[in-house]
Amino acid sequence: MDTPLQDLKAMLPAELDELVSELGQPAYRTQQILDWLYVKGVREIAQMSNLSKSLRSLLSERMRITSLLEVDRQESATGEAVKFLFELPTGQRVESVLIVDGDRRTVCLSSQVGCPLDCKFCATGRMGLIANLQAGQIVDQLLQVSLYARERGERVTNVVMMGMGEPLLNYDQVVRALKLMRLQEGLGLGGRKITVSTAGYVPGIRKLVAEDLNVGLAISLNATTDEIREKLMPINRKYKIADLLEAARDFFDRRGYRVTFEYVLMAGLTDSDEDALRLAKLTRDTPCKINLIPYNELEEDGLYRRPSRRRLDQFYRLLRDSGTEFTVRESRGRDIDAACGQLYHQQEKVRAAL
Ligand code: SAH
Repeated sequence: MDTPLQDLKAMLPAELDELVSELGQPAYRTQQILDWLYVKGVREIAQMSNLSKSLRSLLSERMRITSLLEVDRQESATGEAVKFLFELPTGQRVESVLIVDGDRRTVCLSSQVGCPLDCKFCATGRMGLIANLQAGQIVDQLLQVSLYARERGERVTNVVMMGMGEPLLNYDQVVRALKLMRLQEGLGLGGRKITVSTAGYVPGIRKLVAEDLNVGLAISLNATTDEIREKLMPINRKYKIADLLEAARDFFDRRGYRVTFEYVLMAGLTDSDEDALRLAKLTRDTPCKINLIPYNELEEDGLYRRPSRRRLDQFYRLLRDSGTEFTVRESRGRDIDAACGQLYHQQEKVRAAL
């Protein structure tokens, strides 16, 4: 059997160097290839016109270039969010979102098709895990959205791994993708412009902390008692709130910057006065940022609800009075189901109907 072609878009510079030298080529070829892949965004080795014909044909014998197929694109009425639907060669689909916020252009990327963690309030959680994305497929989402932004005369400034999936459960592919996104000669997302968001998979957090990779970390806390958190997020049976706080302190000690705790406000579950006070108390001794997200209701069920305006304001007031700093994320793109936790593609249903 032929060995499967390797993905050129998933190769780190050191690996490209090795390949280039194996093929008897000068070292500067690596830069040229990176430029074709991530700046010019070509989809075929044949298009790399400053490489010799013979090199292109040698490369083509061993390598391919991953490109997701864009099958749909929806812009929100306000223009503040654009949702992209991409198809993998297997026919499975994932979503990415471009979010406009002042001067920022943030891309929300998927790491898995579906997710194994089964968080009860999350649309993706209801799909179960269908597949892990490969590094090239993660980077390609960013590349395609970046090329789209460039056409609009804009530049992507930030990346959040907050789309479909739990990034720390697809660790190796995600970390490889993050390294590729950071390359100065490529997509160039330096500093802490990239944030990985986790439902609280502590072994993954520990591994990421030890990595030589300067990325931000967000942990989806979403409740102030283990009892409620366990009901909403089954992963809490294994990794408790206290474990998350400890991991956050460890992250700060090792990295020198703060973890963001995301906290989704759900009516009657996580939005009481007591919750506000407990949240303040819980996080008091942990260097962290708090990001509150009013729940985005999922179309079909009405099981979980966004708190009323009054309740939200009261929650914010109590938190503020306790001296706790926080930000509120008013999700953009709700009209196109592109907001936090709304990414879900009905692939199985669609196929069943064919
Ligand atoms: N698995 C990762 C990343 C994907 S979820 C994680 O759990 O962090 C990204 C964020 O969206 C999480 O903070 C999650 O709690 C939140 N979220 C999920 N469903 C939501 C919904 N319907 N409304 C608002 N936020 C939601």
